[in-house]
Amino acid sequence: MAARDARQNRVNRQYRPETLALHAGQTPDPTTLARAVPVYRTTAYNFRDARHAADLFALKESGNIYARLTNPTNDVLERRLAALDGGIAAVSLSSGTAAIYFTITNIATVGDNIVSANNLYGGTFTQFDSILRSQGIDVRFTPVNDFAAVEAAIDENTRALYVETIGNPGLDVADLDRYAALASRYNVPFIVDSTFTPPTLLRPIEHGADVVIHSLSKWIGGHGAGIGGIAIDAGKFDWSDPKFKLYNEPDSGYGGLRFATDLGDLNPAAFSVRLRTVGLRNQGPTLAPDAAWTFLLGVETLALRVERHCENALAVARFLDSRPEVSWVKYPGLNGGELAQKYLPNGAGGVVAFGVPGGATAARRFVDSVELFSLVANVGDAKSLIIHPASATHSQLSDDDLRKAGVAPELIRLSVGLENIDDILADLDAAFARL
Ligand SMILES: *Cc1c(COP(=O)(O)O)cnc(C)c1O
Repeated sequence: MAARDARQNRVNRQYRPETLALHAGQTPDPTTLARAVPVYRTTAYNFRDARHAADLFALKESGNIYARLTNPTNDVLERRLAALDGGIAAVSLSSGTAAIYFTITNIATVGDNIVSANNLYGGTFTQFDSILRSQGIDVRFTPVNDFAAVEAAIDENTRALYVETIGNPGLDVADLDRYAALASRYNVPFIVDSTFTPPTLLRPIEHGADVVIHSLSKWIGGHGAGIGGIAIDAGKFDWSDPKFKLYNEPDSGYGGLRFATDLGDLNPAAFSVRLRTVGLRNQGPTLAPDAAWTFLLGVETLALRVERHCENALAVARFLDSRPEVSWVKYPGLNGGELAQKYLPNGAGGVVAFGVPGGATAARRFVDSVELFSLVANVGDAKSLIIHPASATHSQLSDDDLRKAGVAPELIRLSVGLENIDDILADLDAAFARL
């Protein structure tokens, strides 16, 4: 175990992202010497003897007990993505949505609140607005990058700040450094959903994030072939302030353990240790190892794919910008201003939004006029995708919330894929001709 960790630490320090995406987190299986990561389809693991079992259960020794908590396939995925994003540990979960929910509830409890940007993925907005609130965790929405509003919303019960790197689908870039500065002034962790910006584009931990979340279902998996999520622990937040009750009050499920102070060497990873030993162990949102394996396959080509997604998306944004049938275009790489230049110098992601004159009716007609683009509620597939958010992904939001979240009725969202760019542009061109 120690030799393995030393080797992995060396890999993580020595290599650049493209190399980490292929090597970080894996030591080829010593029994079979299999080069690819094996899928460990097992529910449980043999204990060497009763003593070994007792030590594992008492957290005196680390190792596999039961696959709801750990699995060697998921372990490679977790170590690889932690290395890519510059974290010290990660926990994979059954969906991006689960990663968000179990991250928040691993920090905040009844009577607490979090302060979140309001330009969120539709499912996250609903989770925050109705589910968390119904469970006694208040969510205070503020316009992204309105730091006076953020500061006014923070009080003594605030337990986290939350943003998406590029808001969905308005595509505003969050000023991570300024959020991180506020989070640190008020001693709360800064949580960043970086799904739209995989680690070869942006590493939020370098800008002060304490927890980075990805939906693996999007660009990291990259092929629209499965659902999963991950929470990456930067390992920098000190949880010992008593206001974090979940970390400082003795945990009755673990013999009175206090996660902020009683984990010894593992204390810097208190967030991810608790997420695994309480979230996964007792609430069960585990990622299946087969899904973890498909995501590992995606990670191997992440850098290459993301580069092409960005290149194609920029070409699409420029094309739309030149069309008389288009009233406006939003792509951080085209008109995202200083924030896009600062945070996204390597590419601004694969999503482009634009509006057409004629409101929701015209937008829905356009969506029905493309052929190559698939009409689906997804982003980050290798294939090009299209949707009209106001009537689909964001249809649960009220008109007022839609306006606040930057979801105009005429907004069309494209997730630009890896097809030949000439075919992509020709499809858009033909759709305009059909209108
Ligand atoms: C898709 C998505 C999610 C939710 O992830 P699932 O894996 O679909 O549960 C959360 N945030 C963003 C930005 C997303 O695009």
